Amino acid sequence: MTTVFLDIGSNIDRTENIQSCVDQLLIDFPGVIFSTAYESEAYGFEGDPFINLSARIQTDLSYQDLKTYLKNLEDRHARKRDNEKFIARTLDVDILLFGDLILQPEIDLPRAEILKFPFVLFPLSEIAADIIHPQQQKSIAEIVKISKLDENTLTKVKDFPILNMSKNTVKVQVGNITVGGGEPVVVQSMTNTDTADVVRTVQQVAELAKAGSELVRITVNTLEAAEAVPEIRQRLDKMGCDVPLVGDFHFNGHKLLSAVPECAKALAKYRINPGNVGKGKRGDEQFAQMIEFAIKYDKAVRIGVNWGSLDQKLLASMLDENHKLESPKELAEVQHDALIESALGSAAKAEKLGLPRNKIIISCKLSGVQDLIKAYQDLAGMCDYPLHLGLTEAGMGSKGIVSSTAALAVLLQQGIGDTIRISLTPEPGAPRTKEVIVAQQILQSMGFRSFTPQVVACPGCGRTSSDYFQRLAQDIEIYLGEQMPVWKGKFAGVESMSVAVMGCVVNGPGESKQANIGISLPGSGEKPVAPVYEDGEKTVTLKGDNIASEFQQIVEAYVESHFAS
Ligand code: SF4
Repeated sequence: MTTVFLDIGSNIDRTENIQSCVDQLLIDFPGVIFSTAYESEAYGFEGDPFINLSARIQTDLSYQDLKTYLKNLEDRHARKRDNEKFIARTLDVDILLFGDLILQPEIDLPRAEILKFPFVLFPLSEIAADIIHPQQQKSIAEIVKISKLDENTLTKVKDFPILNMSKNTVKVQVGNITVGGGEPVVVQSMTNTDTADVVRTVQQVAELAKAGSELVRITVNTLEAAEAVPEIRQRLDKMGCDVPLVGDFHFNGHKLLSAVPECAKALAKYRINPGNVGKGKRGDEQFAQMIEFAIKYDKAVRIGVNWGSLDQKLLASMLDENHKLESPKELAEVQHDALIESALGSAAKAEKLGLPRNKIIISCKLSGVQDLIKAYQDLAGMCDYPLHLGLTEAGMGSKGIVSSTAALAVLLQQGIGDTIRISLTPEPGAPRTKEVIVAQQILQSMGFRSFTPQVVACPGCGRTSSDYFQRLAQDIEIYLGEQMPVWKGKFAGVESMSVAVMGCVVNGPGESKQANIGISLPGSGEKPVAPVYEDGEKTVTLKGDNIASEFQQIVEAYVESHFAS
């Protein structure tokens, strides 16, 4: 299968004609993704403004057959035909692009109408092809020169396709979990036990799953580890833990999957790093073997490119090509392109080998926040594979949490990312589950998913008479976290509850009224009383030494009365 970008051309100049062509393409090429562009004299064409419809398809048809197909399509649907210059063209590029559509309100098909289509349309211009293709990337200044568009135009339209990306990734089933296609962003994690140690690995997988990890990855690096996988799966199933297991393979994955078929069957997904499957022809063969196992056992695959293990042969060849250019790119730019090429090129190879598109997830992990954001923005603009987000080697403690949050928040806000993992280096003695909690908190604080009731607490200040309210806020947070596994099956929707714990009356009652339930502790100089609000109304005022335990009882009663099914 080849990915082909069909530039259907300018002949289709009215909405109904576009719709007819779209309908036909959808029948002939399931999974097709469309783009449109408004083209005008700005591009050197003459005549009236017109819509240019483009589509990205997977096909085995030859170039000539495609041209014939498009010609027939146009003959059937086009109402007006322009000169030869506008006859359908096929281009061997596999990217989706943006153009100036949203800045042209007078066009036949306004943006609002386009967004009503049951698929996403990316505004596209032919010039944009040069903007975004990693091999031909040009600066905004160069594009301005070529296109005669102004810089603001080009900068603004960049946001449009990205904002619509996540809804349009392909759905990939990983065991009982769906990744992509607009499904809620999946939280995943990875064990750090020796997989050959069945008891410890089972225990950690179960802990991660209990904390909310919806997929758990385990290292499969030795024969012993591969042989342990089926037993790990069986023991988890016996415990009632059905979390899908993902096998992390490097260097010898092809051998391990071949030697231990039960391991290949027990895993729900294989993670393959194209930089670590071997070199040259042997690498290609080993990659192919792993893909063949995925096909044979009907498993999903993550093509997981990592900055630390980028395919050096690919990088070297791209650097050679770059040197031949009239204006060679900076080294960092070529490295960036090589990462993307490694991921998308490997995914294309996997598809060519017969792995269905809906079995492929992509990741492209880097350790720099800005580098990661750019890489994923580019990936999202170039493919519809679900994207696994994660900052690699994020680091320890607050540095790791902040860096991961900064990078992922930007991407998630733009609709990019279908599953996330936070690669924290655990502090000595800290639970592995912290990476799951951080992932959940990112998604919950951004309003994308709810996992556990949220505690709203003020930071405290000179009005705070003691650390009592800090301890109360902490105790309530721990209490809610501990209760969640019990409440989850019993109280539907409790995870969306908010509890405010505030230090004084300045902001206390206000925040308390906004939360489902809130308490305002006495600040310095205030009367030693703590008013409690439920659903915006003051219900009781607590005082004395047992405020904490009494408030906890009030929270429990609130949950039972408001969330019992
Ligand atoms: S609510 Fe009161 S104690 Fe808390 S930060 Fe504001 S003024 Fe300070």
